[in-house]
Amino acid sequence: MLRESIIAGALLCAMGGVVVKPKAPVAEVAARARQLHFSAIVVDTHDDTTQRFLDGDFNLLPRSSSGSIDIPRMKEGGLGAIFFSIWIPSKITGSDAVKHAIDQIDAVREQVRRYPKEITLATTAEEVRQARKGGRIAALMGVEGGHMIGNDLGVLRSYAALGVRYMTLTHSGNNEWADASTDKPAHNGLSDFGKEVVREMNRRGVLVDISHVSDKTFYDALATSEAPLIASHSSCRAICDHPRNMTDPMIEDLAAKGGVIQINYHIGFLSQEFRNAERADPEIDKAIAAEVQKRCGDKEGCQLIEGDRITREYVEKGKLPRVQWTKIIEHIDHAVKLVGADHVGLGSDFDGANMPYGMEDASKLPQITEALLRKGYSEGDVKKILGENTLRVMSEAERVSRKLNSGIDFASE
Ligand SMILES: [Zn+2]
Repeated sequence: MLRESIIAGALLCAMGGVVVKPKAPVAEVAARARQLHFSAIVVDTHDDTTQRFLDGDFNLLPRSSSGSIDIPRMKEGGLGAIFFSIWIPSKITGSDAVKHAIDQIDAVREQVRRYPKEITLATTAEEVRQARKGGRIAALMGVEGGHMIGNDLGVLRSYAALGVRYMTLTHSGNNEWADASTDKPAHNGLSDFGKEVVREMNRRGVLVDISHVSDKTFYDALATSEAPLIASHSSCRAICDHPRNMTDPMIEDLAAKGGVIQINYHIGFLSQEFRNAERADPEIDKAIAAEVQKRCGDKEGCQLIEGDRITREYVEKGKLPRVQWTKIIEHIDHAVKLVGADHVGLGSDFDGANMPYGMEDASKLPQITEALLRKGYSEGDVKKILGENTLRVMSEAERVSRKLNSGIDFASE
């Protein structure tokens, strides 16, 4: 969240006597891609539709003419599992933050309760697979910002009990125990309490998410966590030099401990050209923010959707560069070349950021599969990127949790 042609043929290129695989006809690859995409479990680790639930005039069942997510478009795009973000701004802290987070967890659970034939709450990798077998979309939850625990490990445990399965250590501002990537350092990374938070997340099977955190916080979390980390919605800094993105060494170190970077589709993180244009004229951002305020007042869900719409109006007027969805493939491919297909996934930031042309909503997801096949990726690698890698880290966090709890004799405590 912000508040944040293709493709050469699938050739194993073959100078020097190696077999050259003939380029598959376009229609054949398209058919194979559809078959593969809809047989895979596609997992999106970051989605901000929750804010719309709270505005009171949106629900998941009918097709919506705005935003990126609803049940019809998730089905059309073969999206099998979605992490709904629990988010409030960093400046809201203490019991207010806890109250807002509980309201949002309740809102997600109520949406799921209303449409049991279509969508079901999942809290483990196995439950995601079971949801899929039953023909339902799996709904999961991630808390986006450690400020929402109110410095209380009991609150963290309560979120876990309600079904939250990852927590992003910070949002855009520092909290009292961790530094964010878009704030001035205050703790030199994670404080001692911050490290305790990470250890408690390991015990509860809550994945540690390092999107939004400072580079030093990332390294402290990596050293502290027994379970692999995720970057639920971050892209590659080598392509777009934004502090929200990960450097190549960070991606390598994340992968070395089994983690996954889930690529964010936000154009300000995908495209250096877009980022440069935004920075060159800060008045544009201010004008967009003012227009959002005019259209939405304090309605967060509306603000996120309109922010995307108004940004696109600036693009259409030629005031900001046009970014195509294929930039997502560039970031995936960069990370795969760096660390292999086992450590890359999808974290759209739908309904919370500015989407590129061609990736306006969840119905467009199958073209990612087709683009990767056309690049020469194996079907197994594509399935990993679409969702299996995220399911693997979930299983691993569950295993670590079981191990950390196995020695406890609760009766004698
Ligand atoms: Zn975010």
